[in-house]
Amino acid sequence: MPRTETLAAKIRAGGRVSADEALHLYRHAPLPLLGELADGLRAARHPGGIVTYIIDRNVNYTNICVARCNFCAFYRPVGSGDGYVLGFEEIFKKIDETIALGGVQLLLQGGHNPDLPIEWYEDLFRAVKQRYPSFKLHALSPPEVIHLTRMTRLPAPEVIDRLIAAGLDSIPGGGAEILVDRVRRLLNCYGKATADEWLEVMRQAHLKGLRTTATMMYGHVETVEERIEHMRRLREVQDETGGFTAFITWSYQPEHTELGGGEATGVEYLRMLALARIFLDNFPSLQASWVTQGGKVGQLSLAYGSNDMGSVMIEENVVRAAGASYCMDEVEIVRNIENAGFVAKRRNMHYDILGDPFFREQAVPRQLALATARADGDTSRPEELKLYAARSAAEKRLRANDGPS
Ligand code: SF4
Repeated sequence: MPRTETLAAKIRAGGRVSADEALHLYRHAPLPLLGELADGLRAARHPGGIVTYIIDRNVNYTNICVARCNFCAFYRPVGSGDGYVLGFEEIFKKIDETIALGGVQLLLQGGHNPDLPIEWYEDLFRAVKQRYPSFKLHALSPPEVIHLTRMTRLPAPEVIDRLIAAGLDSIPGGGAEILVDRVRRLLNCYGKATADEWLEVMRQAHLKGLRTTATMMYGHVETVEERIEHMRRLREVQDETGGFTAFITWSYQPEHTELGGGEATGVEYLRMLALARIFLDNFPSLQASWVTQGGKVGQLSLAYGSNDMGSVMIEENVVRAAGASYCMDEVEIVRNIENAGFVAKRRNMHYDILGDPFFREQAVPRQLALATARADGDTSRPEELKLYAARSAAEKRLRANDGPS
């Protein structure tokens, strides 16, 4: 039997594939076969044709960042006139709007801003929890946690403990890109977190009882072998902790970035997704990245291993800065799920099912464009910033001008 057929039989029988076998499948298996294998594994794990999604909002609390990843079109350097930090009141308003649409959490991430000490995060998390006790904070990817370890000179477990005490509920898997240091050096993101550092934050978070997601951004400078190495390392941590809820992969979005280049095709996305379902046999959920691939490829993802349509995502800033601006509200996500022959269910961050589509329980306005962090031209400075010590000379001057508290 040719090797591809032998591997297909092994996968159908529930066998685990090695990195070398995954590489063979990626290079030689026809797309329909990869889809059939991935779909079979998805159906076995998620019976009843249920496809989930979450209603939440991607809030980026600051775009000021010292990391300067060359694939990122979102960040602004310290002192930039386009730099912003959201105020607590602005964030509360975003939460109110999210709850009104049936939302249950914020996905809260931002740049590595040297002028936001850990106390700012703790105060924000506490304030959110005080106002909205059952609302969840899926916040601060591993590189942001590492940034805080450098700001505080505390080890990662202590930083995580402090964030949990303030209200952190789970950690999003951002900032992973490709977990191979050769690639990270080329993307200028080795300094923000090495592959080992990223994985160790997740391991520590899992050991403390947090559930997290994992991501992979492919299609820039990496090889296919390095994509598989990325997944191998995730699978290894998952074998150890079982703390990852889901894997989310998307293609690099090149517009307005220093790195430039082109974007991987839809077929390449479907091949990667199907391979991820096959290789990451210990990951329960795979999200479709409609926000980068568009609704049509997002819908097709459901035939290539995805069991989750991700987020209704009331707001998005990072991918939009790099040229992708797809928008689907809950009505549209549900339409895509049902049209593909599945049953749409709302979920929470732990992938527990919350119920049927919210818009069928309660009238909600249609959302035809994603919200942004701030209105264009809004350069306001939050009142509370002056309560916190700044590190950069530029911000020290601005806070001095903000006046005494
Ligand atoms: S990807 Fe994140 S860490 Fe890197 S430059 Fe952009 S905001 Fe900063």
